Amino acid sequence: MNQAQAILKALEQVCGSTSPDKPISLHEPNFGGTQAWEYVHDCLDSGWVSTAGQWVSRFEQELCALTGAAHTIAVTNGTVALRLALHLVGVQAGDEVLLPPLSFVATANAVAHLGAIPHFVDIEAGCLGMDPKALAERLESVAEQRDGVLSNRVTGRRLAAVLPVHVFGHPALIEELRAVAEAWELPLIEDATEALASWRNGTHCGLFGDVGTLSFNGNKLITTGGGGALLTNSAELAQGARHLSTTAKLPHPWEFEHDAVGWNDRLPNLNAALGVAQLEDLGRRLTAKRKLADCYAAAFEDLPGVELVDEPQGCRSNHWLMSLRFLDENPSEAQAQRLQVLEAAHAEGLLLRPVWKLLSQLPMYSQAPRGNLATAEDEASRLLNLPSSPQLLEGWNR
Ligand SMILES: *Cc1c(COP(=O)(O)O)cnc(C)c1O
Repeated sequence: MNQAQAILKALEQVCGSTSPDKPISLHEPNFGGTQAWEYVHDCLDSGWVSTAGQWVSRFEQELCALTGAAHTIAVTNGTVALRLALHLVGVQAGDEVLLPPLSFVATANAVAHLGAIPHFVDIEAGCLGMDPKALAERLESVAEQRDGVLSNRVTGRRLAAVLPVHVFGHPALIEELRAVAEAWELPLIEDATEALASWRNGTHCGLFGDVGTLSFNGNKLITTGGGGALLTNSAELAQGARHLSTTAKLPHPWEFEHDAVGWNDRLPNLNAALGVAQLEDLGRRLTAKRKLADCYAAAFEDLPGVELVDEPQGCRSNHWLMSLRFLDENPSEAQAQRLQVLEAAHAEGLLLRPVWKLLSQLPMYSQAPRGNLATAEDEASRLLNLPSSPQLLEGWNR
């Protein structure tokens, strides 16, 4: 049996037998065992289906209770949450925002939506997040104070924020990253869209910096159909987020008075009802995902040439997306092995995906400033994401 066949066998050991007409995706939404129907029913009966209502308030309160955030603002999706967070800490058109290249495209898009420019900083392989050393080195080599403005000495543009990502639900080295951001007095926004219920040293991801962002897209740990949220401990930033996400309207019983160019970003009540139902089931999902990760670890334990990406030290990961790393020293050989598994798995209806193509290599960001990205480039050719839905676990009541 060759390596690809052995890996496929291990996958089937965990996911059960598969077939092309019943394909298994990486992460599938699931409302089984929840009160989703009742809550949506209540929402329709009440007539409050749009951007205000009790389900929105309840969803926000429950997110605060879960994460420990002082404030949560529910919005239409994670990309919008990122764009709003960056805007709130002062990112403007023509600024640069430091972020890792190994992420979903939305991280860079949110920067570009404001007219700002992504500036790529390498990752470290332990947590797959931005490398604090690479961030410090990059800032030392390109940052300078110009008339009291922290600027990139090469491009002349202002350096406006640091935006690390907690990849696949694994907390990045966020305390070290925060220390670097603080040393340069740069705002810190966390892309915690994959990291609901992920913790480092007792703090929830998204609460280390100024603002953190969550996503409730269909493929995330819990879903509202589409949705996102901002987490912050700052009353001022929370107030700004609420105001700007509701067209910057001043409170008044009848007047249409707006004091800024705002957005229409608030999460509809209908979606929030789904969110409350899913949050109530979160504990069961987390337990199932942890068990699924253990099953994968056991299935791959004795296979040479691959390893399961582990929960980083000192963390509690939500295990949102599980991934396999091909260990061959030569990255192109690792990539070739990965391709063989992808082909064999897709033929069986197991819809594995390679990790994202690096943002720094996408056409719209290929000219963006960057440091040395050696680790990100290496990891990008080795990682393969595995089906990770909690309902894959045997005995899960769907
Ligand atoms: C899902 C995701 C987003 C965007 O969230 P949406 O709700 O899909 O807009 C941003 N960054 C990362 C890393 C994500 O995985």
